[in-house]
Formats: sequence, C-alpha cells, structure tokens
Amino acid sequence: MTDEAYVDGYTALKIFTKGFTYTYDDIIFHPGHIDFAAHDVSLDTKLTKGITLSVPVVSSPMDTVTGGKMAAAMALQGGMGFIHYNNTVEEQAAAVREAKRHVPFCGSAFEPLVVGKDATLADVEQACEGLGLPAGQYPTVLVTESGDLGSALVGVVTTSDVDLLGAGAESRKVADVMSPASALVTSARAAGEDAARAALESSKKGRVPLVGESGECLGVVERKLLKDQLFRYPAALGKPTVNAKGELCVGCAVGTRENDKVRLAALVAEGLDAVILDSSQGDSVYQVEMIKWIKQNYPDLQVIAGNVVTSRQAERLIGVGADALRVGMGSGSICTTQEVCAVGRGQATAVFHVSRLGAKHGVPVIADGGIQNSGHITKALALGASTVMCGSMFAGTEEAPGHYHIAEDGTRVKLYRGMGSLDAMKKGSSTRYLGESQKIQIAQGVSGTVRDKGSVRNLIPFFAQAVKQGFQDFGAKNVKEAHAMLEDGRMRMETRSGAAQHEGGVHDMHSYTKKKW
Ligand code: 5GP
Repeated sequence: MTDEAYVDGYTALKIFTKGFTYTYDDIIFHPGHIDFAAHDVSLDTKLTKGITLSVPVVSSPMDTVTGGKMAAAMALQGGMGFIHYNNTVEEQAAAVREAKRHVPFCGSAFEPLVVGKDATLADVEQACEGLGLPAGQYPTVLVTESGDLGSALVGVVTTSDVDLLGAGAESRKVADVMSPASALVTSARAAGEDAARAALESSKKGRVPLVGESGECLGVVERKLLKDQLFRYPAALGKPTVNAKGELCVGCAVGTRENDKVRLAALVAEGLDAVILDSSQGDSVYQVEMIKWIKQNYPDLQVIAGNVVTSRQAERLIGVGADALRVGMGSGSICTTQEVCAVGRGQATAVFHVSRLGAKHGVPVIADGGIQNSGHITKALALGASTVMCGSMFAGTEEAPGHYHIAEDGTRVKLYRGMGSLDAMKKGSSTRYLGESQKIQIAQGVSGTVRDKGSVRNLIPFFAQAVKQGFQDFGAKNVKEAHAMLEDGRMRMETRSGAAQHEGGVHDMHSYTKKKW
C-alpha cells in the first residue's frame, strides 16, 4: 500500500500516549503479510545483555513457582528459572546446585529419584508419594552410594524389578531387587548427547544413566522423554540454555540489604549466572547502590533490576549498569499492590514505555506478571519486551515446589501465593515490599491455589509454537524484526472496546470444551 490516506490502525506510540493505561487484553494487533512458515520463526532473544534464550519465557522467583527443579526444567526447555529467596542462604545455594547438576541433554529427566543403596522399597514408595506420584508407579529410581546424584552409581530400580514381588516387599532393600550397575547400559557425559541417544537406541532400554569421569551418577536419559522432545514437539523445542562452561544457566533473586551480599556470595560460589534484585518498586537508592556493588565485585554476573513501570524509573537503573529490567507493578495474578498502595500501571503501557527506553540503551526488558495465555506472551514481545516472566502459568506444574492436593470440588490443585501475601511474608519475604521492620505488615498479595497444569515439558512447547504462529501473523520472522516493526510504525494496533473483547473470545455457544493443544 502506498497511499497514506488508506493506512489503517495506529502505531504503539499513538496508542500509548493518550493518557490511558492499558493492559494486554485492551490491545489487538493487526495482521501483516505472511511469506514464511511458522516453523521459520526464531524466538531467540536476549534475557539480559549477556544471556540469550531460545524460548522467551522465564519463571518467577516465588516460593510456589521456582526451586531447583523448576530452574532446571526451564533452562532445559530453552528458558530460564529464577530461584526464590524466601529460604535460608544454604537452601537457596542448594537449589542452584541441584539445578546446575542437570545434564543438558535432550530427554534427560528433570528430577530423577535417587536413593542410597541401603534404602528399602518403602523408602522409595515414600519418596514417590513426596513427588505426588500415584502409589505403585515407579519413575526411574537411581541407586547411588550416598543417595545423591554425584556419587557412584550402584544400580537402577524400575517397575519390572518390583511389580511381581507381592506382599511384604516394602521391607526389602533396593540393593536386593535392583539391576546392578555392572548390568546397566550407561553413557558417559563426556561422550555427548548423541552418544546417549545412540546408547538408548542400540540397547533398546527405557533409560540410560549418565555417568561422569569417575563413574559418578549424573542423571538419566529416558526413552519416553527423548521421544516426546524429538517427535512430539520438534518445531517448538528450545535449545537448553547453557553458559560458556556447558552448565545450565540458573538465576536467583536476592534483596538489597547487607545480608543479601553474603547470600549473593554463596550463590556466585555455586556458579550463578544472573541475579534479580527483587523489589516491587525498583527505583530506589538501595537498588542503585546494590547494582554498583555487584558490578564492582562480580563483573561477570548479569544483574536484572526492577521492578519498574516508567521510563523515568528505568533511566536511573540503566545508568548504573543494569543488564536487564523487570517490568510490572500490580499486574500479577496474586497481586493487590494497585489496590493497597495506589501505584502501578497497566502492563501493556508499562512494557511499551520501558522497552522503548531500554531499546535506546541496549537493555532488554522482561515483562513480568499478568501473562494468562500465549497471546499475552506474543503481545508483550510485540510491545518491545524481550522475554516474559510468569508466576501463575507455571504454578501448579509438576516442577513447581509443593505437593498437589484435592480441593473441595475434586480438582487437583497446588498452592500459589504472592510473595507479598501475609503467608509468604511470615516466612520472611517481606523485604521485597519494604515491610520487614514494620509492626503492622501490609499484604500486597494473596494466597490460594491453582489447578494441576501437568509438566512444563508440555506447556513450554505449546507456548513457543503459539507465539511462533502469532509472529507469522504479524509477518515478523523473529523478535528483533518485531521490535523494528514496532519502532518504525509498521506494527499497527488498536484498543478494543468491551464489545470487541467479548467478540474476540468464544461466544454464542450452547456448550464447548477449550482444549489448548
Ligand atoms: P503472575 O504471572 O502470577 O501474573 O505474576 C507473577 C508476578 O507477580 C511475579 O513475578 C512478581 O513480579 C509479582 N508478585 C509476586 N508476588 C506478589 C505479591 O504478593 N504482590 C505483588 N504486588 N506482586 C507480586
């Protein structure tokens, strides 16, 4: 189209400078011209100045979202997880260690069950229960000398080792029923991913333990997981996020107090790749001083500052060297900040304005909170964010901390709570909301439950594929191109009236089921 008189829709700048604050559902993008397939879209993106992801999604540092297992799962899928700090320094450092020891091979289990050689089958059953597995269902159980990964592999117990044992089997030792290490097909980590896959293929086994140079057990590659990754989600599969040492990239959140410097030192010693300075209002002298201190003491560590929602807040943090900005105030699903404190911003408006300034300085933006569906991820990226951070999307997955329970209506649920909820603050998270020294603690979040969402192994490929399709509709082959279209005005959009939003959802049906994939 060459005739300006017929140019249709509005630029983001026009929409977001009208004096209203908008969130994702208020905005709808115009489709562009398609001349490539959805699988040609690359979602490679910058999380920070120094870390690139192949899937633009990270998990939030909340105590019901990201522990060591989630951090490993996210990095294995091409995103990254940020481990919460509502715990002791030792617990947080142990979670980093747990995530880091995962071998970033296609098909490797996120959290194989590991027991010591003296364990009984009753101990295994109890551990399975702890993982929320139905009675009698055995995952791969690795038996090691000490009961931890990293110690010598002694054997493996599988369903077929135990299912015919009959009554009284609980008291038997795993060492008596397992397949011993000498009879197992294993693969050396140093031989690489393809060798592990070849070992599975040639042995026709269901699993191949991975071992290190001294025979220590490092994990396990499972046939079922490998098949899922290779054949079920091939197009949407992200590459594991690894650092220069070939380890999974892991992030953590900390506060900005003196004792957080001690905490950070312990995390860096475990090989931390990125740190989030966790605050609901990041434009503070505390954060500025902490960024300067980290840059002086750990120049290689990527520092994510925030949260901010305006370019004025962002400017100061960019000025002292933030490697990325976390954007969002009051947009989270469990958050009551806007109601309680009267501050915040509609998330679409916040993402657009902060990203615009970030782009000028080469600082990527993480759109944090309020992501309810794949369309919101696509919108956040199209408004200038480089990644999104999710809490509720990943709460309720198998990899999130905590156990499932059955709610009164029969739904299988897990706990999900705001880090500013009274429950979480009682455990120590009040520093994020500057409430630590106050007598009356004011909640800025709620505590509740979310339904069982299965594994992030299934969720992330679904999101990635859906976002690729959105990008194809825009006519943008990658995140960089979408950002260029936003900047030069080719990305056109409009706000939606209430009726248009209603029309944009399912309507006028007698009944329907909404399956996502
Ligand atoms: P969600 O993805 O569930 O919509 O939002 C998660 C985000 O909400 C987190 O990454 C964090 O920025 C924010 N958040 C977490 N807990 C609280 C809280 O208790 N209060 C507020 N105001 N925000 C929270």
